[in-house]
Amino acid sequence: MKHAVIVGGGISGLSAAYELDKAGVPYTLIERAPSLGGVIRTNRIGGSTIEAGPDSFISQKPAALELIRELGMADQVIGSNDHLRITFLQRHGRLVPLPDGLMMMIPTKVWPMVRTPLFGWGTKIRMGLEYFRKPGVFPDRSVAEFVRDHFGQETVDYLAEPLLAGVYGGDPRELSVLSTLPRFVEMERKHGSLTKAALLAKPPAKATPGAPTLFRTLKNGLGSLVEALQPKQTVLHGEAAEAVERTSSGFRVRRGGDWIEASHVVFAGPAYEAGRLLDGRLGELLGSIAYASSATVALGYRKAQIGEMKGFGILVPGVERKRMRACTFVSNKFSGRVEDGYEVIRCFVGGIADEGVLDLSDDAIVATLREELRELVGITAAPEFAVVERWRRAMAQYTVGHNARWEEIQGLAAKVPGVYLAGNGYRGIGIPDCIEMGRAAGRAIVTDPQP
Ligand SMILES: Cc1cc2nc3c(=O)[nH]c(=O)nc-3n(C[C@H](O)[C@H](O)[C@H](O)COP(=O)(O)OP(=O)(O)OC[C@H]3O[C@@H](n4cnc5c(N)ncnc54)[C@H](O)[C@@H]3O)c2cc1C
Repeated sequence: MKHAVIVGGGISGLSAAYELDKAGVPYTLIERAPSLGGVIRTNRIGGSTIEAGPDSFISQKPAALELIRELGMADQVIGSNDHLRITFLQRHGRLVPLPDGLMMMIPTKVWPMVRTPLFGWGTKIRMGLEYFRKPGVFPDRSVAEFVRDHFGQETVDYLAEPLLAGVYGGDPRELSVLSTLPRFVEMERKHGSLTKAALLAKPPAKATPGAPTLFRTLKNGLGSLVEALQPKQTVLHGEAAEAVERTSSGFRVRRGGDWIEASHVVFAGPAYEAGRLLDGRLGELLGSIAYASSATVALGYRKAQIGEMKGFGILVPGVERKRMRACTFVSNKFSGRVEDGYEVIRCFVGGIADEGVLDLSDDAIVATLREELRELVGITAAPEFAVVERWRRAMAQYTVGHNARWEEIQGLAAKVPGVYLAGNGYRGIGIPDCIEMGRAAGRAIVTDPQP
């Protein structure tokens, strides 16, 4: 008889469990932490709904919306206030709005680029000349090499680095362009110029109130998705899976000193945990996928103390040498999240270049952020609350060569029937990617003809 063990109760493991529950396949889910959800957790502070980890998911990848619809929660989906979207970048200590018409780091409008103080003339001329590049195919290279090649170093420092720091907490000199920006590689292969390719593509619809938005979330926070995914079968909290062994009938997984028999095992934690539990070349490759640590810090103020903040938030490029890497003005980004009369500034620190910040005390982190916000936006008031959430080794780094490594991992895993991988270490770091991979693992177990 089938009995699966799922190691890890983040969104990947919960999505696998959801498929097994639907089909009535028995399983045990082992989660090291006292609660489920992994990095997805929503805090309620006063009258505000504040995300401890991720705050939204991208709607272009359908897996999250599909699951939410299946769970009967479609009416709870809200979009970001894109008609109000302005993102500021810190440059030489000042705030500069991101110019209109940027598709990540690809300029698609001339005048906003000509007028922006974000770049010098050398970069602006280079951006214009990029239009005349010929198509080409290159081996995998770093995001920094790729962007520098197209638009110059200033674009790496003031666009690619801060944008990718927000998603991966990573270093563009290490991250693989093929794994993190595959669409841009395809554009380069077909058109040479990214600007030309972007102009040929359908322009994004103008943001208007009520129009579908790129980033969506749930009215009561992403934690409500975790609540709706509560597993219906055995969940063992509070202790990690310690070891996995092959047996004549499948596997056994040790947890809290006891062995649990399993016909199938889903490794739904970080890749390095799967690497620790699996041996040989497969374990070695999984263990070689790097992860970055980061922390979010929610600072709650009365609006009367700090005035109206403009835009969605601020990105701080690494070259500006600050500890705050980004912040979001939560009440501007999502309606109904922050209690009337209040503002919550959600700051991000850490990432691969500054993991040491997680070892500082909460007070020290908050003091540093307050000082940096004072310099940047003139806030001198003390926050009414400050909540620091640390996420150690939680963000996978798809470094150069990642796709080749992942192919080898898939080949080796396929030789161990009954072993499944799900999580953010492989094919995508976002919530929709993790849901898709978790559900695929669950479905594969359901349809496996082996008992
Ligand atoms: C601060 C932050 C902000 C983010 N923002 C966004 C965003 O806005 N939008 C978006 O789409 N994505 C975002 N992401 C990425 C996304 O949230 C994650 O990639 C995704 O939620 C990971 O889910 P997971 O289940 O694969 O892993 P996790 O959430 O890390 O869960 C893995 C679970 O496995 C458990 N575990 C590990 N080892 C063991 C073991 N040996 N035994 C038992 N249990 C174990 C852990 O305790 C953990 O609960 C963000 C990530 C972070 C850290």
